[in-house]
Amino acid sequence: MHYVTLKQGRLGAVINNHLIDIDAASSILGLAVPCFDMWSLLDSPQSIQDDFDALVQTAYEQHIACVSYTPELVGSPLPHLRRNVFCIGKNYADHAAEIAHKMGISADLPKYPIVFSKATNTLIGPLENIPLHAGVTRKIDYEGELALVIGKAGVNISKQDAWRHVFGFSCYNDVSARDLQKRHSQWHLGKCLDGFGPMGPAITPTYGRPLSDDSRLTCRVNGELRQDATIAQMIFDIPTIISTLSAGITLEVGDVIATGTPAGVGMGFNPMRFLEPGDKVEVTITGTLPLTNHLAFT
Ligand code: MG
Repeated sequence: MHYVTLKQGRLGAVINNHLIDIDAASSILGLAVPCFDMWSLLDSPQSIQDDFDALVQTAYEQHIACVSYTPELVGSPLPHLRRNVFCIGKNYADHAAEIAHKMGISADLPKYPIVFSKATNTLIGPLENIPLHAGVTRKIDYEGELALVIGKAGVNISKQDAWRHVFGFSCYNDVSARDLQKRHSQWHLGKCLDGFGPMGPAITPTYGRPLSDDSRLTCRVNGELRQDATIAQMIFDIPTIISTLSAGITLEVGDVIATGTPAGVGMGFNPMRFLEPGDKVEVTITGTLPLTNHLAFT
């Protein structure tokens, strides 16, 4: 089961490549709609999520309000962000090494997670174009990542409890303007241009259970495999990330955490291979729906 946001903003779900419009299914079945959009699902108690799942299952089995899923039918799973996306930098050893080589800096692995954030203006959905920002940057790079969505707020969360605070996961692209990132020392400008945070198409619920270590993350540019890793290759695993971020900072429902990118970003190649206008970038993660975006032509 994958939770999605229909283009009209209503909540939907995808099962076995069938997209179910919950509003339509509820009215055909004569049932109350458990929740109308992704934020109301996130803000609801577990019992409402259970009702929602049951309704989706019934609609799927009876083929009610079902169409074949295509990413054209959905938007960003979160229609907007309430807070900045928490991001982890250099969380795969081979990526840390490629960046160190290019930047001429130490290749030592970080002892603690490197944390930055992407502002709310970065969010775009599947198939939305990543803006070119001509005149602002000439070095746009991709970073395929696994994003987590928090489902239960908390502060000082222990590693043991971490997965109980996770609602689900999603594909994410931490698009980066390398020239700005380097020029301004702090990463904020290079990471926060409008539309530099494609997410989705789905939030796939985890129901409190950890993702398998062999969950595979890939990123392709125009069909060419550039990044390919399992989440077991993270330097700081997901419980460590959640425990670190929540130390003295309350994680709120709907917070998004981008967990870092493996080797194979454009900057790591020689010569560097930044995105060109019209390039197609596809991020996949085992168990959730793939995310495709193009860099705009103009
Ligand atoms: Mg990143």
